[in-house]
Amino acid sequence: AGDRAAMAEAAAASRPPPDVDTDDCLREYRHLFSPDILAGQVAFITGGGSGIGFRIAEIFMRHGCRTVIASRNLQRVSEASKNLVAATGQQCLPLSIDVRQPQTIVAAVDEALKEFKRIDILINGAAGNFLCPASALSFNAFKTVIDIDTIGTFNTSKVLFEKYFRDHGGVIVNITATLSYRGQALQVHAGTAKAAIDAMTRHLAVEWGPNNIRVNCLAPGPITGTEGYRRLGGKFAEEASQFDMIPLQRAGNKTEIAHSTLYLASPLSSYVTGTTLVVDGGSWLTSANNFPALLGIASSSAK
Ligand code: NAP
Repeated sequence: AGDRAAMAEAAAASRPPPDVDTDDCLREYRHLFSPDILAGQVAFITGGGSGIGFRIAEIFMRHGCRTVIASRNLQRVSEASKNLVAATGQQCLPLSIDVRQPQTIVAAVDEALKEFKRIDILINGAAGNFLCPASALSFNAFKTVIDIDTIGTFNTSKVLFEKYFRDHGGVIVNITATLSYRGQALQVHAGTAKAAIDAMTRHLAVEWGPNNIRVNCLAPGPITGTEGYRRLGGKFAEEASQFDMIPLQRAGNKTEIAHSTLYLASPLSSYVTGTTLVVDGGSWLTSANNFPALLGIASSSAK
């Protein structure tokens, strides 16, 4: 019986927590971390109105954190905020920003500081992506992805640094990707943009460490219930049993990403800076990087 209990425990270590595929809050939640691990803190989350960013906001709020969720679509973040407050009982301030426009970030951070008097955590989650071969990618499409992902991450980090982190310390978690590790087909734009964020993370960790600012990346693999999954061929991979190739034999879910982000944002990782936590079930090590197959997905998802 002892053996069986030990095996059940071992399996539990890679069993996913329950999640929902829509941009709704979880119907059930069991705390694994201490429920007050972020008590009294405030997190500023770009892209917090949808997908992975939304779930990060929810999990943080379930751990005592107040949040600011910011993206271009004010209606989307406002509705998300109502759902988050109802599910968690914490405060959530929805704000409109475009990470490509520093003045919109300055205005949002001013507003957040007026409301909460502090910001402890910045999650750079805003990004754009689509499948496209380099040969068909317009100059403007490449530039737009760099503008949102890479420059947007720098803009937001710098505004937070100047407005609060320089004097009070803080934690930054940048949501990147594993695309560049093996030169993922049809992803030169996003892979390049995210690789630059990995580099930026190390530079900022070095320069801002003395200000008690930790800067890390979290690189998700394929995550169900997200725009990324829908746009980048997740369903196709599922149907073609491609997830069997992943060491953990499945896609991940948003709560798993949120839990790993919570680790990086919390005092549990107090000595971790300048690094990337890959949360992909081992996917990038073994998954196919099949140009013709991906081209098929790209043309069918464009229809
Ligand atoms: P998502 O729901 O589309 O999240 C992207 C968010 O960014 C949206 O909330 C969007 O809101 C916001 N955004 C886009 N452009 C912006 C801008 N210029 N200024 C401010 N906000 C902007 O997609 P997701 O799949 O959950 O992805 C979240 C993060 O995880 C991204 O960084 C993505 O690269 C990364 N990731 C995802 C996967 C995956 O499997 N899903 C895998 C690896 C990495 P508005 O439209 O309202 O601006």
